Amino acid sequence: MKLDHLSEVLNYIGGERVPAVSGKTIDNHEPATGKTLGTLPASEAADVDKAVSSAKQALGSWGELSPEVRGFHMEKLAQGIEENLDAFARAESIDNGKPIAVSKSLDIPRAAANLRFFAGAARFQHEDAFRTRLPGDDLMNVTVSRPVGVAGCISPWNLPLYLFTWKIAPALAAGCTIVGKPSEVTPVTADLLAKVAIDVGFPPGVLNIVHGTGPDTGSAIVGHADVPAISFTGGTSTGAMIASQAAPSFKKTLLELGGKNPTIIMDDANVEAAVEGAFRAAYSNQGQICLCGSRILVHESLIDEVADRLKKRISEMVVGDPLEESTMMGALVSGAHRDKVEACLQTAREEGGEFLTGGERISPEGRCSEGYFLSPALIRGLPHSAQTNQQEIFGPVATLTPFANEEEALHLANDVRYGLSASLWTTNVDRALRMSEKIEAGTVWVNTWMKRDLRTVFGGVKDSGLGREGGSESLRFFQEPTNICLRFDSR
Ligand code: NAD
Repeated sequence: MKLDHLSEVLNYIGGERVPAVSGKTIDNHEPATGKTLGTLPASEAADVDKAVSSAKQALGSWGELSPEVRGFHMEKLAQGIEENLDAFARAESIDNGKPIAVSKSLDIPRAAANLRFFAGAARFQHEDAFRTRLPGDDLMNVTVSRPVGVAGCISPWNLPLYLFTWKIAPALAAGCTIVGKPSEVTPVTADLLAKVAIDVGFPPGVLNIVHGTGPDTGSAIVGHADVPAISFTGGTSTGAMIASQAAPSFKKTLLELGGKNPTIIMDDANVEAAVEGAFRAAYSNQGQICLCGSRILVHESLIDEVADRLKKRISEMVVGDPLEESTMMGALVSGAHRDKVEACLQTAREEGGEFLTGGERISPEGRCSEGYFLSPALIRGLPHSAQTNQQEIFGPVATLTPFANEEEALHLANDVRYGLSASLWTTNVDRALRMSEKIEAGTVWVNTWMKRDLRTVFGGVKDSGLGREGGSESLRFFQEPTNICLRFDSR
């Protein structure tokens, strides 16, 4: 299979790669060079209609297969990704701007792992049965689940194939067929997945992928009468639009949204480990992970030491060509996104932030001189209420804020509209448990960051989302349970 042709992304409908019905395309850019990489279809309602009807046609046969047989097909997709790891990783780094070392070790292996995990998880899913004895009645309640139908799966650009497969894998395992839409900013690896699907003989119509913008393509999926469930990962304001579009027809929605996550370093923390954790949490993937710790809250006794150590760590960072193995930080995903991050940096300056380092454009020598690079920024001296500390920036920008005691740390951690994740650094187990339970977030890491077990729940509270993914939660979202109440003959 040849996977080195990245320039013409096509839709994948009914088992075939096809252009948009209108023939219209959108340009796709390589973030590290700013140059046009190729095109993707500018899909509209007509393309979504085609994809939904193909998914509807395949629903009966796919939904009736045993979990083992569905799992067999999904594992073939996973194997196709693994066998082409280098091609997928290179494509992801070219399309997204992330370092190749990250694509190779995180994004692409995790995409295959998502498919393998849910292929297996569906085999272990059990259903409930309750024996119910009432006066004069002896009943057996059995809950059976069926696939919810055609699932709409809409994903963002920051972890393109990783998050696209995180949505489609449980839907496939649950017996749904799919109309998926990757981000228009990073469409390439989903197209490579379509090529793998064709190559391994994945059943046509079960997985359909339509490319295009949110307003034209995404909204047509959300509004489609034959799509009863929408699993969405992306920004909070997009999530709100999707929720209001889906609500009148009572569609199921699963919304994984933005974050403004705290890294909390207590006075009893192992400082070296905490700084390394805070550094990774702030700047991994150019700070473009929903779980990034962009607010570093530090006990006042340690704040100068933490600031110095972080500055040193940042100075060691190699920022440059994502395709170089030694690169630690690549390009931001697009010119528009770099502009947005730069506007946030300007706000931080106007709010009186002291830039300890970074926040400048970088122009690496050679092929990347026109790419969308920024040096990692560390800012101190902003009040907690500053916009910089309250709004998601989604770039390589972190703030340092001191606190005096546990109570204040919790107040600062929770006093934002988001509640996705937190990482807490302390060597005191009692304190770790006490504080973790009080932090308003779907995930709290203690003395670590971004470690995931796919069986555990994942999601956000407040403006960070609605519902949970992970393990059986993901499978249940794509299923509709029915309770059957059987009466034993009690003569
Ligand atoms: P985005 O909301 O702009 O886009 C996400 C997806 O939604 C894209 O495919 C886009 O085309 C589509 N979309 C946009 N408008 C739409 C509409 N009206 N109807 C239907 N679909 C629409 O987000 P983004 O900029 O791609 O991603 C960054 C955001 O995603 C950040 O806020 C980040 O925190 C969040 N995110 C959250 C998680 C999580 O698990 N909670 C994970 C990754 C990213």
